[in-house]
Amino acid sequence: MTFDKCGVYILDNESTATRFIDKKIKELDSMDSEEPFQVLNLDTLIQMHLKWLSYLPRIKPFYAVKCNSTETVLRTLNALGTGFDCASKGEISQVLSLGVKPENIIYAHTTKPQSHIKYACAQGVNLMTFDDEEELRKVSRCHPKAKLVLRIAVDDSSSFYRLSSKFGAGLNSTGRLLECAAELGLEVVGVSFHIGSKCTQSLAFRQAIADARSVFDTAKLLGFQFSLLDIGGGFSGIDVPFSEVINGALDEYFPFESGVQVIAEPGWYYAESPFTLAANVIAKRLIMEDMRKEGVPERLMMYYLNDGVYGSLNFLLRDLNYHMIPILFIWGPTCDCIDKIVDNYLIPELHVGDWLLIDNIGAYGISMSTEFNGFKRSNIYSVVTNETWHTLKLSVFLSLYKCVMVSDSCKHLVCFFT
Ligand code: PLP
Repeated sequence: MTFDKCGVYILDNESTATRFIDKKIKELDSMDSEEPFQVLNLDTLIQMHLKWLSYLPRIKPFYAVKCNSTETVLRTLNALGTGFDCASKGEISQVLSLGVKPENIIYAHTTKPQSHIKYACAQGVNLMTFDDEEELRKVSRCHPKAKLVLRIAVDDSSSFYRLSSKFGAGLNSTGRLLECAAELGLEVVGVSFHIGSKCTQSLAFRQAIADARSVFDTAKLLGFQFSLLDIGGGFSGIDVPFSEVINGALDEYFPFESGVQVIAEPGWYYAESPFTLAANVIAKRLIMEDMRKEGVPERLMMYYLNDGVYGSLNFLLRDLNYHMIPILFIWGPTCDCIDKIVDNYLIPELHVGDWLLIDNIGAYGISMSTEFNGFKRSNIYSVVTNETWHTLKLSVFLSLYKCVMVSDSCKHLVCFFT
């Protein structure tokens, strides 16, 4: 195992992310430290990207930085050729500092502070969303050359986290908004929507794409030439379950020959599965002993970990049904009673000093974490296999655009860029 300059542990041939975690735990134990830590498995991140390319080949992902802005995630996705969805000056500045080109950024927030719009303008970030007249007036003052994308509200009733009550223009107001943009001399280039996070019904995407089509038609009548469709986020972190429906709807409403560029803003999809948390059992408490009733365990315990909902598991505050592996009766470290990780899960007894590994914790965890009660954010160690690292190096340093002598998996990446 070697440690690369850019902060990635390169695993030698027989090593794995799990073995890395074991070693790290032993190392911490030997130093009398029990600090929680996360491991970012870059192989998993890259696999998610390859899966995206094969399931949704027409759609260029603009990763939603808000979901997890860990630098290694951003650097890797930049190397793989994704764009970035930024929600603020801070996010724009972070990705620009990593070498992302301004044309690979969409400022996808419809209610922007004026100073942030001016910053985007100064940096050459032109693509940005809007959903009402006041925002148009702000943009005309702060970034008159912006390429605007009209965000519409869509039916998000089949998603866990709904956004359309807060953002998005109603379909019947889009004509008026486009007329206003024309009066202000602004360029509107397309339509966006967000179906809500963790969408459970593929048909919701279909309807939203059909709605976007109707706005394209209205725009044409008003003299606009739209060229961009942005289908937002909302994809599950584990799979691309809706690809058939989405691809079918795109073929029907925005066929390839239409020349419309299709992008998306996935967050959860990319960030969730590559991250594993290792947290330490810092306390335990017996709450029930020797019930001697059928179906009831002999001892019921409560465990207290040194990371919780104010830290790496912040997403649990919004998602009480979240399924982690393992799940058990455990609390986070702070004094707050809402710092509960999960309850009613039976496992073999744990002891103070034991470590628990929790998978799939990368989305909206560390990015929303705090240092409440003085508990520091967990360190993140990035790991990658030797093989993937060399493939990546090829793509980053040998200029992917011109790369022809490459392995099959790299060819796949080449296709994406061209
Ligand atoms: N785009 C916008 C504008 C968002 O508000 C969000 C999430 O809130 C995302 C993209 C990412 O969504 P998800 O993580 O569901 O893919």
